[in-house]
Amino acid sequence: MSKQMSNLEKEALNLIKNSNGILQSELVKELGLDSREGSRLVLRLTKKGLIRREQVSVNGRRTYRLLPVESKPQKASIKINITTILDIPCTTCPYIDQCGPGNFYDPATCPLMDRWLEENANRISRLLRKMPLAE
Ligand code: SF4
Repeated sequence: MSKQMSNLEKEALNLIKNSNGILQSELVKELGLDSREGSRLVLRLTKKGLIRREQVSVNGRRTYRLLPVESKPQKASIKINITTILDIPCTTCPYIDQCGPGNFYDPATCPLMDRWLEENANRISRLLRKMPLAE
């Protein structure tokens, strides 16, 4: 399915996006098309997955309300090599089940974690620079 759009399709999509659901008849009128050209245009945009149609009744006549299809945000992905953190002290710590913020064993005050962070600061810094920023 081609996502390439003609200028007319772009104009129609803008009108649909800027409205809160425009009637097909209104779109056709705005673009100065006849109803056949309008129907074809709407079908093309629907097939491309850019808009969706909702059947509605206006003054007793069935027509369509056209709505934009919101694109889903892309999921960010990052590859982390697990070997870069395998030597973290928690992996062999006997207190890991009791460790947590505010507990007696707490990562924020753990001397083993402090030492590991100091020894690996450069490596961690390089790893963090490769991560995408959260939006
Ligand atoms: S932070 Fe310290 S106490 Fe907690 S699990 Fe890791 S090594 Fe153990």
